[in-house]
Amino acid sequence: MATLNLDDYIRKVPDFPKKGILFYDITSILASPQAFLYCVDRMVEIYKDKNINAVAAIEARGFLFAAPFAIRLGIPLIPIRKKGKLPGVTLSKKYDLEYAQAEIEVHCADIPKGKRVLLTDDLIATGGTLNAARSLLVEGGAEVPEIFGVLGLPFLNYKKALDPTPVTTLIDYQSE
Ligand code: AMP
Repeated sequence: MATLNLDDYIRKVPDFPKKGILFYDITSILASPQAFLYCVDRMVEIYKDKNINAVAAIEARGFLFAAPFAIRLGIPLIPIRKKGKLPGVTLSKKYDLEYAQAEIEVHCADIPKGKRVLLTDDLIATGGTLNAARSLLVEGGAEVPEIFGVLGLPFLNYKKALDPTPVTTLIDYQSE
């Protein structure tokens, strides 16, 4: 697989969405077929022999990487969405953000009981969102043996928040 410096394809936007936050924008990866393919190829390479039965992803940017990955591995994609978007019977989970609460949902029928689900998102910051998503999948009867993010901010301690599930990222940044 050709190597590529992923950092070259991540747009950094200071003070977005508010002052003091450095926003790591992955739309610049999507705008490069080469960088986008590189990310999906890496995911396939990392997980193809790990007996993964399905991939779950968080709305909305998480879907973008999980969808081609699901097709490549020939496995189901489980969308985890913000409250009120999924029409069927759901499991839902509230969790804390910095200054507010959020709620995510998944269709009960989409969760494969007793199967190994790779949980993914585009970026892992505090790990709060993925922690809530993992709870939903486990509550629904699945196993979550691994978590993946294209980009990680380890100084926000996501490893601790997601312990004991192993977390893999393609690139980490040490400041915000
Ligand atoms: P968290 O629950 O703290 O891990 O936040 C994860 C979600 O917030 C991800 O879905 C990201 O898309 C978004 N996010 C948090 N911090 C940033 C950042 N500095 N740059 C871009 N996206 C971020």
